[in-house]
Amino acid sequence: MIGMIVSSYWWVIIPGLLLGFYAQMKLSSTFGRYSQVGNARNLSGAEAARIILDSAGLHGMEIGVTPGKLSDHYDPTKKRLMLSEENFYGRSIAAIGVAAHEAGHAIQHKAAYAPLHWRMAMVPITNFASMAYLPLSLIGFLGGMLDKVLPLMIILFSVIALFQTVTLPVEYDASHRAKKTAGRTWPHSGK
Ligand SMILES: [Zn+2]
Repeated sequence: MIGMIVSSYWWVIIPGLLLGFYAQMKLSSTFGRYSQVGNARNLSGAEAARIILDSAGLHGMEIGVTPGKLSDHYDPTKKRLMLSEENFYGRSIAAIGVAAHEAGHAIQHKAAYAPLHWRMAMVPITNFASMAYLPLSLIGFLGGMLDKVLPLMIILFSVIALFQTVTLPVEYDASHRAKKTAGRTWPHSGK
């Protein structure tokens, strides 16, 4: 059963897996390269984020440290910026790049950028879908009940895919807003 499904759908599954793997490698190699390069103003990630937040009128926003590598994120519920230790203290181009991008999410929130709100609204259901997908597919494949669980698997997968589709413009827009704000503050840095 599994063999049959894998052999008839490998051309759908394999390219997706390879593409995901390639994206991960590209991310860590680019981040790795630019974490070795200092920035001209010798700013830390936290300092860069502070400047961008301040110039966007977010003077009171807290910038905290969160454990883990590339765990940087904007927390919309507590309205604070959480940077990984490496990027909070780091003075590389990579550190200020990540910090500025996360500040971009805070600016989106302040501007009530609609796709950010769609994304936030989808978080609980997407978490549920990602959690339920694997056990359900195991029940389907190993329990020989694929015909019964397949419709539900398609729904869960669609939820995850929709979430990722909404995430994409939110991510591009966050970097764009960070660059625009940084460009006003540092005339030569933002284009
Ligand atoms: Zn982001």
